[in-house]
Amino acid sequence: MSATLTTISQHLFIYRGAVNVGVIYRGEEALLIDVGDGSVVDTLNECGIRWVDGVLFTHHHHDQASGTSRVLAGGGWTGAPEAERALFEEVNAYWNDPKNRWHVYHFRPHNVLTEPVPIHRTFMDGDTLRWAPARITALHTPGHTDGSMTYLVDVDGQRIAFCGDLIYDEGKILDLYSLQKGFGGLTDYHGFMSAWREVVASLRRIEASGATVLVPSHGNVIRDPKGAIDLLEARLHAVYENYLSTSALWHYFPTLLQEQSPTVKPVAVAPSLPVPPFLRHVGTSWMVQSASGRLLVMDCGSEEVIHQIEGWLASGEIEAVDALWITHYHDDHVDAIPQFRQRFGCPVIAEESVAQVVSNPDAWRLPCLSPWAIPVDRVVKHGESWRWQEFTLTAYHFPGQSLYHSGLLVEGRGLRLFFCGDSLTPTGLDDYCAFNRNLLGEGVGYDFCLQLLHELQPDMLFNCHVDAPFAPSSADLKKWREMLQQRVTLLKQLLPYDDPNDGLDPYRTRG
Ligand SMILES: [Zn+2]
Ligand SMILES: [Zn+2]
Repeated sequence: MSATLTTISQHLFIYRGAVNVGVIYRGEEALLIDVGDGSVVDTLNECGIRWVDGVLFTHHHHDQASGTSRVLAGGGWTGAPEAERALFEEVNAYWNDPKNRWHVYHFRPHNVLTEPVPIHRTFMDGDTLRWAPARITALHTPGHTDGSMTYLVDVDGQRIAFCGDLIYDEGKILDLYSLQKGFGGLTDYHGFMSAWREVVASLRRIEASGATVLVPSHGNVIRDPKGAIDLLEARLHAVYENYLSTSALWHYFPTLLQEQSPTVKPVAVAPSLPVPPFLRHVGTSWMVQSASGRLLVMDCGSEEVIHQIEGWLASGEIEAVDALWITHYHDDHVDAIPQFRQRFGCPVIAEESVAQVVSNPDAWRLPCLSPWAIPVDRVVKHGESWRWQEFTLTAYHFPGQSLYHSGLLVEGRGLRLFFCGDSLTPTGLDDYCAFNRNLLGEGVGYDFCLQLLHELQPDMLFNCHVDAPFAPSSADLKKWREMLQQRVTLLKQLLPYDDPNDGLDPYRTRG
């Protein structure tokens, strides 16, 4: 047998291609568990296996099943978790549903097939199947996906667990973005890693079943299930506690976060300050008013902002609206910009990382995306300054909450104000949605942002969703950066990649 095969027992081997394919066989006939890209067919031919009787899928992800038509070109049946049947058969409905394209705050499911795969039989927890020399038991083991199934294969005197992507190797997991899941009534958007306990509980069920070998879809065959799961649990827990300790969510949902972990507290809480008198805050919009009564507006997520400004114009509280600045592309910050432009006719200004998304949303697939294309009249670069009334404004790329996010420094009236979009609250970082692309590492993502704040030393920060400005000290910024550095170290142990972003960023192809 070639190097891409791992023999488990007389009637079972693993084809180790893009995914691990379980091959249970007798004579010229085989039953497969997952198919990957279909390249397993060549190996089956070399091994003298002429006929694939059936295929069992652990879960609906594209990488598990994209090669099905090749593998079943000569016929054969398919089996999948009952809970995920539609995600195989009705993929066109998924892709055609605008709910899965615009204003997306849910990430279960994701990585859906692009071509439908017909399913001939489905499995629920506890269902069994006899196939030639093997007896197969289906176990519902959610975590990587909600409907994921583990197939326990009793063959040749052993019990082998095909566990999908619950685990990658001893103490390792394939990725963290698949664990994005809502908790305490919040959307998936707020739940970075929240499915980690489900992963561990599912693995413990498999361990309790007496399986002696774990075969993950990606990664290595595991022959010490308990040791592998113990290590994975400890590492997931450590990363999660590190993550919670810098979370912006303590500001918004302290009780819910406490429920996630009774032992963790935020490492820093920045003091809040009074709002300077020349600022206004409506919805998610901050506004700066010049001494001459002119207005600079940041973001416009709802028509409420427009109505308020109309009222101030009518009463003479303000003279005119001069410009609209966009902090980032999320719908709750841009949804009403088309109406705003129409009503006030002022230029829209955005930093280039933001401008590229809002001006052409059709080209992007991101969370909380608004379908309305917004023409940006003035695209500014990182570090570019300009004068507006008595203020100096400087634009920055600020890849915090999202990679497509900016910051604006407003200097004037003896103050240096930094508008950080949604990126920070007094308790830390808004990195709770992996699909926003919060890259980790020295000089990227939040490390870049915190370094910038350390250099700029603004008097106060403004978050679009927080009523009062706040002022993290140098020590606070340092603590957050240290936790991020620690997170990189922990993730290098937990994830099977040199660069942890390969397991954090859903949009990159792994090397
Ligand atoms: Zn998967
Ligand atoms: Zn946002």
